[in-house]
Amino acid sequence: MNDITLLRTVEQVRKLVDRWRTAGMRIGLVPTMGALHQGHLSLVSIAIGEADRVIVSIFVNPAQFGSGEDLSSYPSTFDEDLMKLDEAGAHCLFFPSVDEIYPFGFSTSVHVSGLTENLCGKYRPGHFDGVATVCAILFGIVRPDIAFFGEKDAQQLAVIRRMVDDLNLGVLVHAGETIREPDGLAMSSRNSYLNPEERKQSAAISRSFSRAAELVAEGERNAGRICGAVREVIGNAPLATIQYLELVDPDTLKHVEKLKAPALLAIAVYFGHTRLIDNIVLKP
Ligand code: AMP
Repeated sequence: MNDITLLRTVEQVRKLVDRWRTAGMRIGLVPTMGALHQGHLSLVSIAIGEADRVIVSIFVNPAQFGSGEDLSSYPSTFDEDLMKLDEAGAHCLFFPSVDEIYPFGFSTSVHVSGLTENLCGKYRPGHFDGVATVCAILFGIVRPDIAFFGEKDAQQLAVIRRMVDDLNLGVLVHAGETIREPDGLAMSSRNSYLNPEERKQSAAISRSFSRAAELVAEGERNAGRICGAVREVIGNAPLATIQYLELVDPDTLKHVEKLKAPALLAIAVYFGHTRLIDNIVLKP
């Protein structure tokens, strides 16, 4: 063990962070739901480069799960997570209980409109309200100078940026690139749900993205034809069911018909019961 501090209450975090702030330190926050992998750890490593003190939160936020989603089965690997964070050089792990984040009488919800209506927002009603609310709470507790989020969750990133701007939260939002397995599958805590056959076929997502990038490099600009080619590649994975696939503007998340500027190709795919999301920026 190095010397990571494990804290469970808001009061403890406040005390520690106040000390850091008084010492003139720049504070970085990496919010997570645990079951940590290299994607999370890459954010920690960026945070260590950008901030003097790095606090990672692990909180499986009930407010962002819909009924019938995987809240009760969400993977939990606390001991390994603590060890990984310690090795990575994080200074503090905040691991609060649900009551600590949502005390009795809690009545507030943050809703970012527009950006939350399509892509995942369409299929997970209320999800982004849960995400925005918990991030606002965490920002309020830690009052970080910088918060770190992955591009893997592109819609989440857009929503957080909008919230921080709109509410003048004074937090710099730093995005980290998507970290992938050797076969291209974006790392995700939910990958552990995949059985071996599903896991094998899930590499089709990144293969389909390579095909899309190849088409764009050859001059294709039509969203329908790009998405058609993606569907064709994923169609070769019989266990895959596409929930949505859309080319959108990276900032507004509005549908793009013709690729004139960098656009986000975003997808959600089921492999069995496991829902995977991924995205790539296509540049004309
Ligand atoms: P989660 O624990 O899934 O809520 O993710 C916590 C943070 O890690 C979010 O900002 C995610 O976007 C980010 N993240 C998740 N997977 C990856 C990945 N494969 N590469 C980079 N960042 C990731």
